[in-house]
This record gives sequence, C-alpha cells and structure tokens, in this order.
Amino acid sequence: MTLFIRYSKALTDKQLKRCLVAMIGTSEHGFVTICRFLFKTLSTMKKSDLCPCGSGQSYGNCCNQFWGSSVLPATAEQLMRSRYTAFVLEKAHYLNDTHHPQYRAADELKNIKASFRGMNWLGLTIVATELGGVNDDEGVVEFIAQFKHLAKPDALHERSRFRKEQGQWFYLHGDVLSED
Ligand SMILES: [Zn+2]
Repeated sequence: MTLFIRYSKALTDKQLKRCLVAMIGTSEHGFVTICRFLFKTLSTMKKSDLCPCGSGQSYGNCCNQFWGSSVLPATAEQLMRSRYTAFVLEKAHYLNDTHHPQYRAADELKNIKASFRGMNWLGLTIVATELGGVNDDEGVVEFIAQFKHLAKPDALHERSRFRKEQGQWFYLHGDVLSED
C-alpha cells in the first residue's frame, strides 16, 4: 500500500483512475505490478527510453515518430511493432487508422478502446517475417505478444498479413496460432 501511495502521487487523475480500475479483482501483488507498469509507461515514458516494441532503439527514434505525423513505417515489421506500442500506450486512433479500411469493423474504434481495459503488455517477440520490406507491397509478420489481462499472464501468437497502398503499410488481419 505504501508503494501505491508513492506511485499514485506521480500519476495524473486519469492514470490513477485507470490504475484503480485495472486493479479490481487482482491480488495485492498484481495491484503493485499494475501500478508500476502504468507509472512507467504512461508517466515516465521519455523519448530516450527504449521503445516498448523491443526494437532496441530509443522510443523517440522508433515508434514515437509515427504518431500523427507524416513519417510512415517503412516495412510491415515496423508497422507491426508500432501497432504493438500503440496498444501499450493506448493510441486507439493510430490502431484504427493503420487497420486497412476493408478489414475495419464499423465500431472498430470503440472495440479497440474496450480492448485496453485491464491489459498490461509485457513484451513483443517477432518470430518470423515474409516479404514486407521497403520494396514489397505485401508482407506477413508472425509474432508473440506477452501480456497480463487482469493480472493473469497470457500470450498472443499471431500471423498477421500486411499490405502497402500508395506508400502506406496497413494491417489486414491476423490468424491466431495455438500455443503448443
Ligand atoms: Zn518502436
């Protein structure tokens, strides 16, 4: 509880509210983990920090440059990584806009926002890529994204398809692969 009080002082009201919502139904350990995670990703994310996407680059030189600017991911993998970071940082509009319109649900934005609840993303591993390079128009990225949902550890293993149109990569859809 002391830890929560210490971290909560650094959170904005909105972050604190989300922290409290995420903690409903979790153990005290989960409670502390969520507090730390929110504090780190939402309150202290600096451009010099390592990017959440796991590229090994600083956040400022990696996914941060794609939010609401004219800089576009050059490869399918880069788009995949930036979409993962967008889930971590809850950038719903970026996720909506980079999902190909033909594959986008009518209430996509609402669904994306709903999917943020109780999620604590822990890391992204790119398993394999096929095409998706700067000179390609189609690409496939297989990845494993680890997360905790309401403090329960889980992972998403997916094979995602991407398409480039007029110089912009879009996520089409993904096939979820079963875990062995
Ligand atoms: Zn990144």
